[in-house]
Amino acid sequence: MSIKYADIIVDISHENLDKTYQYSIPEELLAKAVIGARTLVPFGKGNRFIKGYIVNISSKPNWKVEAIKPIHEIITDALVIESQLIHLAYWIKETFGATMNDALKTVIPVKKSVKAKEKKSIRLIAATEEAHEFLELSKKKNNRGRVRLLEELLKEKELDYDLAVNKLNIARQTIKDLEHIGIITTDAKRLYRNPVQATASNRKDIILSPEQKQIVEDIINKYREGIYTACLLHGVTGSGKTEVYIEIIAEVISQGRQVIMLIPEIALTYQTVMRFYNRFGDRVSIMNSRLSQGERYDQYLRAKNGDIDIMIGPRSALFTPFEDLGLIIIDEEHEGSYKSEHPPKYHAREVAIERARLSGAGVILGSATPSLEAYYKALQGEYILYTLPTRNGDGCLPDIWVEDLREELKKRNKSIFSIRLKELMLDRLQKKEQIMLFINRRGYAGFVSCRSCGYVMKCPHCDISLTAHNNGKLVCHYCGHEAAMPDKCPSCSSKYIASFGTGTQKVEEMVRKEFPGARILRMDMDTTKQKDGHEKILAAFSNQEADILVGTQMIVKGHDFPRVTLVGILAADLSLYASDYRASERTYQLLAQAAGRAGRGKLPGEVVIQTYQPEHYSIVAASHNDYEGFYRQEMNYRKMLMYPPAAHILAVLIAAKDEGKGLLASELISGATKEWLSAEGFEKETVVIGPAPASLSRANDIYRFMLYIKQLEYRVLIGLKNYLEGYINYSEQFNGCTVQFDFDPMNS
Ligand code: ADP
Ligand code: ZN
Ligand code: ZN
Repeated sequence: MSIKYADIIVDISHENLDKTYQYSIPEELLAKAVIGARTLVPFGKGNRFIKGYIVNISSKPNWKVEAIKPIHEIITDALVIESQLIHLAYWIKETFGATMNDALKTVIPVKKSVKAKEKKSIRLIAATEEAHEFLELSKKKNNRGRVRLLEELLKEKELDYDLAVNKLNIARQTIKDLEHIGIITTDAKRLYRNPVQATASNRKDIILSPEQKQIVEDIINKYREGIYTACLLHGVTGSGKTEVYIEIIAEVISQGRQVIMLIPEIALTYQTVMRFYNRFGDRVSIMNSRLSQGERYDQYLRAKNGDIDIMIGPRSALFTPFEDLGLIIIDEEHEGSYKSEHPPKYHAREVAIERARLSGAGVILGSATPSLEAYYKALQGEYILYTLPTRNGDGCLPDIWVEDLREELKKRNKSIFSIRLKELMLDRLQKKEQIMLFINRRGYAGFVSCRSCGYVMKCPHCDISLTAHNNGKLVCHYCGHEAAMPDKCPSCSSKYIASFGTGTQKVEEMVRKEFPGARILRMDMDTTKQKDGHEKILAAFSNQEADILVGTQMIVKGHDFPRVTLVGILAADLSLYASDYRASERTYQLLAQAAGRAGRGKLPGEVVIQTYQPEHYSIVAASHNDYEGFYRQEMNYRKMLMYPPAAHILAVLIAAKDEGKGLLASELISGATKEWLSAEGFEKETVVIGPAPASLSRANDIYRFMLYIKQLEYRVLIGLKNYLEGYINYSEQFNGCTVQFDFDPMNS
């Protein structure tokens, strides 16, 4: 049998993750040598042994064999959290295609040389009698500093160092001297920054409804028996899913275990955090991108030290180093932000299930509009499905109107508001109730095109449409390139070139014009750029400082606005035009979520969906709140065209500065793919599309090509990916190119 070698990291700090050392694995340790295992290895001169973790195993020595030392020992007594996370990194690398280094960097957080905040204190260590003697002596010698310090310490036993120096005016030298003599000691405790600035408010006592109660009891009973099958909680917005989570979390914590709760960053608002804080106090912490690096690292340490039990945060919070993780919750499970856009392009749902498996924990996925993936698995029996079909208590679902914009044109209504929407808006303004106007993402609207020849103004570096801004400039949202607004078409010289579609700024202007006197707030990427901008706008709207909130998808999540009784969706179709197989799913989700904002309080709500395609099934289903109906139609489409979850897609992105090189590389990969498929016998069941220029064919002057491979079995695509990785590593044709893998892509 050939000798095996292990690459070992001896220092898990972010800066040194790529630095591994190779050791040989003695035969008697082979069985225990798995990725993530903690080892003792000889290191440096002398007979010193240090701890290290195995991150890779191979049969190939990287050095002269005589120079490679053997692993001394493998410690298996406790599966430490580092081992678990390294193992998870390995699984991510295998399942989603990435380098081990990228995977490790995802799983192990940044340890920057941030200065730790410390709390230093002074304590008396001499016996009281001795201290009194020393005090008398100091008085005689008229050593006032010593006298003040000792008198204080005889009263207080422990004293804050800074307080002693600044308030009691005691010289640092005096403290040092007394410490030297052995009368006192000083010590420093690390202070962890707590990002939850909470003031506990009165929690309303909640009695679960019978439906909520049954779900909670069923899940808890299963946990008590050690059954951790993942669950999907499908509950309309406002049905009380969060209350269900809270009860189950309480049970898990009472067992001495910890909980990770993922929510999309955009929904991580003060209101949400408060609900958890009011129940669990400062055993809760949060992670988000607005925390400083130091704050984030402190949360990591607080979790590791057992100072907190619950971590709430976006995707990355999944890697919180809890020693005994008992539950992972993913709220708004369908959200696109759960898929990483950078290698490793992992999906938090799948990683959560693997992490839960490693630590014997439960997983709860929650959504009002589950992803097709999750619902499919629930129907297949892979997840347990629970439903909360109605809003809690007196809240009921809103009435929904679908307005055909083609009809408005016939009625000579040129406004962006349909006649019905305008009537309802006037009604609400009169009643002093609140209105939300929702338009699709900024990127789709505001592009500039020629109405005569159809020419669209694009970024010369990125090949995507430029967006018109208020200041008259055209801007690229990928690279920031700016251009002046042309006065005639660069292609046909017609003067009918203008910005098309409706951006949030434009809508705000129109509302001002048509509803003078209404108080308006706008929420989009521009108005939420500063820290807490997003929070401030929502808080202002919640305090009824405005009548109308205009915004992008940002406004459909998070907050409860009990006085909102009308939601207008100005152009429901825009998301149907995205060149993406998930366009209908996204449209359904957006409409359902936006509608879910209306009538959350005691007042009933209404929703107006404006569209050019009132007959489209995602719009019809959304207007009847018919998730199952939407699911059946959409699933037929996915099956017919072999899209996930009916099948799986491996997208290969090839990028190069040199266009010819990129093209050659993508053709080589396509050729290798077909060869492998035929050699393995999968040729007939697999569809290969491309290579072709990516939809974003050039970004920052890098050329990008895509290859898509569709297959029913995920594991066949993993086999292909492994083969391609090897092929790319061994061929010099790929120098100057980067190749990225993306399984079941979500952002193309
Ligand atoms: P979801 O998470 O499904 O959107 P929430 O848990 O936020 O729903 O519930 C919506 C509102 O209803 C919240 O204000 C919540 O406190 C309240 N609520 C939920 N369940 C109950 C209950 N059993 N009794 C009283 N109020 C409830
Ligand atoms: Zn033109
Ligand atoms: Zn650009």
